[in-house]
Formats: sequence, structure tokens, C-alpha cells
Amino acid sequence: MAVATSGSIAPQSAALISQNIDHLLDTFFSLTNTTAGIITHPSVGNSAPVKYREIPSWQAQVVTLPEMDHNLPILIQAAQKFQYRELVLQTQHLLYNEQHYLITIFPVPGANPQDYQFILLRQEPFSYLQASKIYKENIALSVFGAILLLICLVTFFWHYVNRVKQQTALLPLLGQKQFQDVRELIKARQHQKIFRDELDDMAEATTTLSFQLESLEKTVGIHTQEMERLSLFDPLTGLSNRNLFLYEVQRDVQRLDKFEGLLTVVLLDLDKFKRINDSLGHQQGDLLLGKIGERLKHATRILGLVARLGGDEFAILVRKASTPSQIETLSKKVVTLINKPLTLNQKSIVISCSIGVSIAKQDESANDLIKHAEIAMYKAKEAGGNTYRVFNSAMATEAHNLLSLENEIRNALERKEFTLYLQPKVNMDSQVEGFESLVRWDHPDRGILPPSEFIPAMENIGIVSQLDNRVLEASCRQLKTWQSLYPNITLAVNISSTNFTDKNFLIFLQQCLQKYPINPSRLELEITETLLMENMNAGLKILKHIKELGVSIAIDDFGTGYSSLSYLKNLPVDTLKIDREFIKDIPESDSDMQISSVIIFLAKQLNFKVVAEGVETSEQLVFLKANQCDLAQGFYFSKPIPAHKAMAMLESQRLSL
Ligand code: C2E
Ligand code: CA
Ligand code: CA
Repeated sequence: MAVATSGSIAPQSAALISQNIDHLLDTFFSLTNTTAGIITHPSVGNSAPVKYREIPSWQAQVVTLPEMDHNLPILIQAAQKFQYRELVLQTQHLLYNEQHYLITIFPVPGANPQDYQFILLRQEPFSYLQASKIYKENIALSVFGAILLLICLVTFFWHYVNRVKQQTALLPLLGQKQFQDVRELIKARQHQKIFRDELDDMAEATTTLSFQLESLEKTVGIHTQEMERLSLFDPLTGLSNRNLFLYEVQRDVQRLDKFEGLLTVVLLDLDKFKRINDSLGHQQGDLLLGKIGERLKHATRILGLVARLGGDEFAILVRKASTPSQIETLSKKVVTLINKPLTLNQKSIVISCSIGVSIAKQDESANDLIKHAEIAMYKAKEAGGNTYRVFNSAMATEAHNLLSLENEIRNALERKEFTLYLQPKVNMDSQVEGFESLVRWDHPDRGILPPSEFIPAMENIGIVSQLDNRVLEASCRQLKTWQSLYPNITLAVNISSTNFTDKNFLIFLQQCLQKYPINPSRLELEITETLLMENMNAGLKILKHIKELGVSIAIDDFGTGYSSLSYLKNLPVDTLKIDREFIKDIPESDSDMQISSVIIFLAKQLNFKVVAEGVETSEQLVFLKANQCDLAQGFYFSKPIPAHKAMAMLESQRLSL
């Protein structure tokens, strides 16, 4: 190795630098296994007496280079191939004698950069191809490794993602209540594992959750079934309830055009069920409803959907009938079915029903259909029950009128338009002994209206008791007014069956007697014979209570209710009123005369006072007198008159006496 210094440097310094460079090159050499030398540019000049060789194309001189003779041709070759500046601080590759070299030129550290430059020729430790091959192999290996790693990673993540997906797919199955399937799938996917991961924990949690949900589902199922049963079925009869019936009717009405036959609602209401309930008790009433339900249930196949709508009201949705006459036949059959005797409390009883039928028309709502059946049912009731009626448009008009009448009646009660009329009851000497209170509606437009115009409607809407109580109170007030002047005059008040069986009635009666301190025996309550016949047990109890208050009792319309006098003798009754039916044809009808005379005779034997109703002629009065009837009432004496006129009548009688 040799070192050259530039001429511009002092020889001593140059020698020092040369030494340093020598030293540097040696060190460098040992580290890199390269060949290096100093070259100087000719422009710099060279004053040092050192060995050098010129490289003409670079205009440079190689000052020192180990194995100069061997390496210089390489440099010269490089000089031919590369520009001088192409090598300054840049490495170039050179093939020489099938050997590969790297060559570069750079300033010598510490020396004047213009003066000294260092050229380094790196001798390849092994061939470039070999290196390149190894390099390529390394690259390939690295790429292969990277790909392998990537595949591993992808496989791992793919597997993981797949498991997550599978796990996730189980959740909707839980929602679909396929609990057993979920567990089996989890079990099938579980392998023997050394390491458990989160997904395994999740699978286990899913299994537990499936058990919990399954048990919850069972509980909910049981409760839902029970709720459905309660919300759709009637617990007493096991039949469908109103909800289910309405739902079915609504559904069928909507698809009426798809029906080949007729869609019909048959509404069934038991006749006088309230009375059965009151007389036999609610428990027996429920039992009866159960038995009726049973009968209808057996006939469901022929009838269609049978429901209990509430109380004693049942309904049938008939889908199979194709003609109105078929529906009528079916309705008749149901009437007969209900009318068959049944055993209740070891007693055989016969119950009847009223049926309303409504056949669906296009564009008719379910509510209308049911409402029409109801209207028809009330018509059947009006006809005395135990029969059926098919709805028609005239019924609707009538029902509409009735509805407005009912509203009018409610207003009339509020406005106190009902007033007391009195009809005298006279003895056989034509002396007034008392009056019957008969209510009138002082209608603002239509004038004075008789009870037939409003009492049935009031019974229908259940407000007849209000009216009765007003009449009762007005009568007590009247008696109180008359008490001192006409202490023996009686006043008879009609009591409707709904009021009579109402538990508040007796309380109200007591309150009236307290409010108007009168001789209670002067007050008489008229109860119809039919009412008593239908409520034997309950009726007897109430009668006893009334008697305990000292109030008199009359049996109204006697002769129409098929009761026997021998039965009546056991009742705490004071008076019998022979119905107008048996009086009106006297003296023409022999049979009526016979009946009337027998009633009067027997009643007197049993210590009842007898009143003949509806006396219109002197012949009738003569007949009654001859048969020793106690009292007579009728147009022959007077029509019902306002209270002040009745008082005038009493006053003239008092004065004439
Ligand atoms: P009722 O209790 O049988 O009353 C007798 C009915 O016969 C009265 O009819 C009376 O005006 C009528 N009448 C009396 N004498 C004759 C006669 O000689 N010929 C004819 N053709 N009729 C006669 P009214 O006042 O129209 O009452 C009818 C029914 O209305 C009563 O029959 C009674 O059941 C009921 N009623 C009247 N007022 C009340 C009341 O305040 N409460 C209740 N619940 N019902 C009442
Ligand atoms: Ca009466
Ligand atoms: Ca009567």
C-alpha cells in the first residue's frame, strides 16, 4: 500500500498525512477486505516524490495503490467506462476479467478535499452472481416465509372468524326457539382442546342461555295459554267469549264476498234469567248457564261458533246455512233445545230463550250485524220469549225511535215531567175508599201520556225503579196531606217487578215512611200476580218485610197468572184485584161472571179484600154488588184524575156526609 500527497501541502505535513492515510487504509483494508489507493487529480499537482501512474481519461494520477501493477488495469478499465465525476461519492460496478468490482472515489477525511481523493476498489469476496443468487435466495426465502406466515395468519384468522360466524349464527336459532338444535350444534363443534379461548366460553354461555331460555319459554307458554284461555274463552262454560266472537265476526264480515252461503249472527238471551238467579241464588244460576253452554257446545258442529257474550247472553256465528229458511229452522231448533227441561238442585226446571237473527249484508260492519241481532232478539222478548225473530229494516227504525224515546224519558225524569194521577176505588155504596196512583207523563209537546207509552221503554233501560220510587214518595206525601182530613183513605202504588226484587226498594220504602209519618196500612203496594208466581221464594221474603212495616199488599191483575187461591192464602196479602179481563164482558159472558163470582167468594172466605178493576157499566156494578165484592174501580166512576181533582172529590164526599 502507498500514499501520495498533493504538492500544495508541505512535505513534512504530506508525509504525516501519508502516514495517517496509510494507517487508515490498513485499518479499512483489514475490515473490508478491499483494495484501495490514493489518486490525485493532475490539476492539483503533485510534488511528492512518490510512485504514481497516470490514468489519462480521468486526468488523474494514482499515487499509491497496493498491488499497483495488478490493480491499476482495473482502474484504467474503470476510467474508460465511467466519468471521473460518476465515481465521486457514487459506487459503480465493474466487470473485469470475469471478476466483479465496486469502485468509488471520495475525499480523504482530514485532508484537503481538492488535493486528495481516495479510490476504493472492493474486491468481491465471492462472485457477484453468487451473491446475487444468495441475495435472491434470501429474498425468496423471506418472501416464502412471509407468505407462509401470511397463510398461517390468514388460516388462523379465517378459522377464528369462521367460528365467530358459526357462533353468531346460533343466536338467531335461540330467537327461533330451536334450543335443542343450538345445543347439539355446539356439542358437535366442540373438540378436545388444551387451550380454551373466548369463543369456547361464549359457546358454553350460549348452551346455558339455551337452557334458561327454554325453561323461560315453557313458563311463558303456560302463562300465555292460560291468558289466551281467559281472554278468548269463557271460564264458566268453556265456550268462546265475546272477544273471540267479535274477532271471528269481524274477520268473516271482511271476507263476506268469499262466502258461498249466508253469514248469520244468532243472538240468544235466556228469558227471565235474572229471576232464576234471584230466586235460586247465583251459584245455581251459574250452574244453569253451564248446562245451557253444554247443550250449545254439543250442537256446535251443526251451529258454528258458539260463544257466551256475558250474563245469560249467548251467540252463534252460523257460516253453513245457505238460505234464510235454513236459518229459521236452525233458530227453531235452538229454541226447542233450550226449552228442554233440565235438572238443577235436584229439581226439574224449564227455561226458555229469545233469539234474534241477523243475516250479514255487504258493507255491513260486524258491530251492526250484532246490533241488528240484538234488536231482533228484543223483538222476540217483546213477543213473550221462547221464540226467535229475524231482523228487518222496520225493526231498525223502531229501535231508532225507541232509542230517541229512551233519551227523551231520561230527560223527562230530570225535568220532573212525570205526574201523579189518581183513580178512585169505591165501595158498593159508591163511596170513595181510596185511590190507585197511576203515573202520567206530562209531555211538553204531546200532552198527557199514559204509562203504556213509556213504562216498557223504561223497563228496557232499567230505570223504571226510579219512576216507581217517585210515585211512591209522591203517594206518601199525598197521604200525609190527607191524613188529618181523610184519615181512612188508602193509596195504592204499583211496583214493577224490577223494583220489587231490588234490594234498595225496602230501604227506600222505609225512608219514605220515616219522611212522611203516615198510617202505613193506608199505603198499599200493588204487585202483579205473575211477578209473585215467578219469584215465589224471594217474593215471599220481601212481602213479609213489607208487612212488617205495616204496609198493605194487593195482588194486581188477579186471574191472569194461574196462581191458586189456596196458594195465595199462605201469603201476607190483604187485597185481590180481579183483572179487567174478567169484568169487561159482564154481563154478556157467563163464564166470566162465574169466574168472577167464584174468585170473590173464595177470596172473602180467605179474608182478602176484593177489588174489581175496569168497571165501566152499571150492570157490572150490580153484578159485583150482588156477589158482595168489596170495592170497584173503573171509568164508570172516574178515570184517573190529577191529585187536586181527587182531593176535590174527597172534599165533596166529606161534605155530603
Ligand atoms: P194497572 O195497574 O192494571 O192499572 C189499571 C189500568 O187500567 C190503568 O191504566 C187504568 O187507567 C186502567 N183502567 C182503569 N179503569 C178502567 C176502565 O174502566 N176501563 C179501561 N179500559 N181501563 C181502565 P193506566 O193508567 O194506563 O196504567 C196502565 C198500567 O201501567 C197499570 O196497569 C200499571 O201496571 C202501570 N202503571 C201505572 N202507573 C204505574 C207506576 O207508577 N209504576 C208502575 N210500575 N206501573 C204503573
Ligand atoms: Ca194496578
Ligand atoms: Ca190491574
